[in-house]
Amino acid sequence: MIKHIPISAPSITQKEIDFTLDAVRSGWVSSLGEYITRFEQEFADFCGTSYALTTSNGTCALHLSLAAAGIGTGDEVIVPDFTFVATANAVSYTGAKPVLVDIEPDTLCMDPEKISEAVTSRTKAIIPVHIFGHPADMDRINAIASDHNLFVIEDAAEAHGAQIDSRRVGSLGHCAAFSFYGNKIITTGEGGMITTDDEKFYQTARQLRDHSMDKEKRYWHNEIGFNYRMTNLQAAMGVAQLERIDELLARKRDIFERYARRLSGMPRLRLNRTASWAKNVYWMVCAQIEGIDETTRERIMANLRQHGVDSRPYFYPLSDLPMYRNDPAKTPVTHRLYSEGICLPSFFDIKESEIDYVCDVLRSISTSI
Ligand SMILES: *Cc1c(COP(=O)(O)O)cnc(C)c1O
Repeated sequence: MIKHIPISAPSITQKEIDFTLDAVRSGWVSSLGEYITRFEQEFADFCGTSYALTTSNGTCALHLSLAAAGIGTGDEVIVPDFTFVATANAVSYTGAKPVLVDIEPDTLCMDPEKISEAVTSRTKAIIPVHIFGHPADMDRINAIASDHNLFVIEDAAEAHGAQIDSRRVGSLGHCAAFSFYGNKIITTGEGGMITTDDEKFYQTARQLRDHSMDKEKRYWHNEIGFNYRMTNLQAAMGVAQLERIDELLARKRDIFERYARRLSGMPRLRLNRTASWAKNVYWMVCAQIEGIDETTRERIMANLRQHGVDSRPYFYPLSDLPMYRNDPAKTPVTHRLYSEGICLPSFFDIKESEIDYVCDVLRSISTSI
């Protein structure tokens, strides 16, 4: 039997089908509709914020947040070197410059110590990323931001439900951006959300999302806005997924714990670590093999693929990409760790026997590294 174990896949039940079909049948197929209102309200409640605003995707949520915060040409925004490219691209869309800082080796999130060194007179904002489901050290980041009067946007695209103490991500900065892409904790196909407690910021973002149409005077526009709206069809799926989020988060935790048990004692291997103050949602199970280079990592991944096991590499340092090229000596931790990481299959419906199989394959490969 040839196995194929994918890295990720959404969990779709009858609820998602029923709600989406209901939205289709209602005729409210674009961006007005009951599911949009419900999804925004329920997501705000989930995060513990006063407001939530749906967007077309997570990248738009980041861009819209920056635009609503008034960030533009000539400004600088601090982002971690180790993240999905969207974090930096959203900054670039505004005309501002992303300034890349290093990460902490344990959490793989932005190192608060590195922020102060990166602040200049042009710095306007910080975007900490809750990478792979682990929250960034928001208390320290917020303290530094407040010293320098910087706007804080959480990139929570990979971390719905993650917590610091009892506070959920989404409520830990001035605002936060979420993604509902197909491989995220919950999905709407494509989709995104901004959460915030700041009413003025929320109103600005809401208006910009809809081409900055004047609230009283239809088709009057005072500035260049966007169409970054989500559809009611996507929101219907989102409402269904959000109703199931406790179950989905429990599943991610169980999957991680099984991997951790089955891979324990493997030399040089470490899985996701979690800070004492954090609740990790384990968006991805990350196998990090100490000291391996990119070639070895590619060899391991090819080997897994031959056994029918999908995997994915860590992100490349943004400072290695042509458009964000920078001196690697400035972000040594990112450059030391990026080549060591392989994310293993952690889709919701993965069977325990499949996890065990992946672990057996990984053990057999790694003896020959
Ligand atoms: C997925 C992701 C995004 C972008 O979300 P999209 O919905 O794909 O646009 C942004 N930042 C991070 C860290 C992500 O993982």
